Formats: sequence, C-alpha cells, structure tokens
Amino acid sequence: MILNYIRGNVLLSYKERFKYFLKERNLKYTPERKEIIEAIVKLQKHFDAEDIYKQLRKQKSNVSLATIYRTIPLLIDSGLIIETLHCRDKVLYERIYNKKHHDHLVCINCGKIIEFYNGEVEKLQDEICRKYQFVATEHRLGIKGYCKECQDKLNIKNNNSKEKNKRDIKHDS
Ligand SMILES: [Zn+2]
Ligand SMILES: [Zn+2]
Repeated sequence: MILNYIRGNVLLSYKERFKYFLKERNLKYTPERKEIIEAIVKLQKHFDAEDIYKQLRKQKSNVSLATIYRTIPLLIDSGLIIETLHCRDKVLYERIYNKKHHDHLVCINCGKIIEFYNGEVEKLQDEICRKYQFVATEHRLGIKGYCKECQDKLNIKNNNSKEKNKRDIKHDS
C-alpha cells in the first residue's frame, strides 16, 4: 500500500508498470525484459527462477537463466514481485502488485505453502512499528514446519496442540 502511494496510485498492468519503472530509471524495455514480464504473469502463485525459465521456454523465448537472475532485482524494485520465502534450497517469489497482502506457512517436507491473513497479526506489527517509531514498507511472515499430512506420514507429534491441551487442563482445574 505504501509502495503504491509512493509510486502513484494508478493501477497499471504488470507490463505497463514494468515499462514505466524502467523508463523512470533510464533503463531499456528490452525484448528480454518484455518476455520475462510476460512469463511472470502466467506463472503459478509461488515460483522460482527455474519456473520463469521453463515458462519462457514454453513461450519459445531464448532468455537465459543468467538474464532472469539479473532481472529479478528489477522486478522486486518495481514492486511487482516479492521474495516470499526460502524453501528447500529454493527462493520463491510471488506477484504482489495489485494483490492482497498475506503471510505463509511452509512445509519443509513436501513444500506445500499455506497462505493466511490475520488481522490481529497485522495490528500487532503496526503497534510494534509505532512503538519504535518505525515506518514499515513491507513485512514477511513465514512459518516453517510440517503440514498435517507430513506430520502423519513422519509421525511428528503436534506440540502446539499438546501445549494447548495442557493449558486447557490447567484452566479447568
Ligand atoms: Zn507437507
Ligand atoms: Zn503467497
């Protein structure tokens, strides 16, 4: 939201936004950059550099992985994508321009990502920033662990519910 405010509140398409951003920086909207932004909008919700590469191949584009890596910081600076999380040696990104903010739970066994939004968590973060007179431009909350299926598969005890049970018992007595 702050990003939109700073950069003008006009909603552009991803392509237009990227073009505009590059112009602002005196950078060229090269065919490679055009093809990359075209690929980005077609990808699944969370993606890594390899996914961009595969999508580009599907589009019959010859953009190299090195070019993709060089372009990613530009896409982040332009406010179009964000580095969401690191998961199992992968850096995952997602589109954030014109998207609702959310946080993530990620399973370190199967890689499943659960998105959530919690108003209380957001409010708490605002309070913390106020307390330290801090102006936030972004925040990322990622909780790593095991999803329900993997807990069962790996026979992992759910400590959270155990703790909760303990508390409940205490409360009752
Ligand atoms: Zn899992
Ligand atoms: Zn997400």
